[in-house]
Amino acid sequence: MSILYESTYIPGIMIDSPKIVVVGGGFAGVQTVKTLLKALPGAQMTLIDRNEYATMLPALPDVLSGRVRRDAITVRFDEIFDARVRIVADVVSRIDAETRLVHTRNEAYPYDFLVLSNGSAPAFFGFAPESGTLHTVDSFPAAVSLRETLERRLADGQECTLVVVGGGYTGLEVAACTRDGFAAAGRRLKILVVEKADSILAPMAQRVRRRVAKYLERSDIAVATGVSLESLNDDTAVLSDGTRIGNAVVCWSAGMQAATPETSADLPAARDRRLLTNEFLQLQTFPEVFVAGDAAQLLNGDTPVRRAVNFAYYSGRRAGRNIAALVRGRKPKAFSPVDLGWVIPLGGTSSGTIFGFVPVAGKFGLRLHYLMSGFRHFTAGAAFEFYLAAFHLKRGVDVPSVRG
Ligand SMILES: Cc1cc2nc3c(=O)[nH]c(=O)nc-3n(C[C@H](O)[C@H](O)[C@H](O)COP(=O)(O)OP(=O)(O)OC[C@H]3O[C@@H](n4cnc5c(N)ncnc54)[C@H](O)[C@@H]3O)c2cc1C
Repeated sequence: MSILYESTYIPGIMIDSPKIVVVGGGFAGVQTVKTLLKALPGAQMTLIDRNEYATMLPALPDVLSGRVRRDAITVRFDEIFDARVRIVADVVSRIDAETRLVHTRNEAYPYDFLVLSNGSAPAFFGFAPESGTLHTVDSFPAAVSLRETLERRLADGQECTLVVVGGGYTGLEVAACTRDGFAAAGRRLKILVVEKADSILAPMAQRVRRRVAKYLERSDIAVATGVSLESLNDDTAVLSDGTRIGNAVVCWSAGMQAATPETSADLPAARDRRLLTNEFLQLQTFPEVFVAGDAAQLLNGDTPVRRAVNFAYYSGRRAGRNIAALVRGRKPKAFSPVDLGWVIPLGGTSSGTIFGFVPVAGKFGLRLHYLMSGFRHFTAGAAFEFYLAAFHLKRGVDVPSVRG
């Protein structure tokens, strides 16, 4: 069978059983593979991820709050897929687009079609600690490491301050969930959120910012705006206004960028490294390469969409359907995102907007967040834990342990 659709014609591919490699098994990558298993049962599918499991990233702050069981946050790929999918747990180090090869540390994988769904990684904007540890909450092991560090410090009887760098939704979620988790364990923790801009949640509506600021104040979470982290030396953090914080545990939540591996060709990308594609999610110069989820700059009209599970999920599905269409000589379809809205879960409360104009807040928003997390989870078993969390919000199933 040849690939014939003229506007997306891919030279050199005549395939009955195409080799399809998917890099990154998050919401986008898992959806691509699921779609292709149905649409092209004869395809040779390889999924490469640095881990042996997929991660429900929105639940990472719950590693700190203890509201859901930790073992429900990740799901092994061999529980999601059967033997038709070759699963490779390795780090992709380079894409050779001209020779159609994906290189990992250990091997090279040839492809007829490639889907890049490698998600995001923290952006440090040149900041590096002189010494000591800069924590992040961008992966399961990273979130566990932050929690264990705080547990250890408190169990040793030390006073410590959690300094969260970045007053965007991730930073505030981490601060609020940590406060809740340690409060449930009977310990108060000093928490300071440091934000370079003049306001937390700068791009969001005044209503949301005011509401969140009030909640943080009530929860004893301090916020310093117009300041940045200047240096981190062992456990002393110094801010740009000269403030020195001893016994600090620092969590960096100041920005994300696409985790694009090195590529042989210079691929067009936005400032945050998200790759630019055509409307079918293909790279213009290499139409056999599709990009989905956070790895791509997905557009709603002319406006780039925020990084979110829903956009990743549906773009992954669209990439899979378009590959199947091309293989069958049919016309691919443009990806057009539908924005259902967003909720910022803040430990015991929330703030957000759904359907573009309906404000949601408090426990209702929180329940919605856990329900949606369950709905988008990778297996029904793991989803169940999130449905439970939605109905029993007070439940602390895995609270931090701080006994000395
Ligand atoms: C703390 C946090 C909270 C969030 N909360 C929300 C929320 O409440 N609602 C919401 O909609 N969105 C939320 N998001 C954003 C959302 O999680 C992302 O937009 C979504 O996960 C993107 O899906 P993806 O499939 O593109 O990438 P990911 O889910 O990040 O998956 C990418 C996969 O690629 C793998 N990978 C990356 N690089 C390589 C490599 N070189 N080699 C091999 N494997 C690689 C990774 O291991 C990972 O499994 C949150 C994100 C974070 C970090």
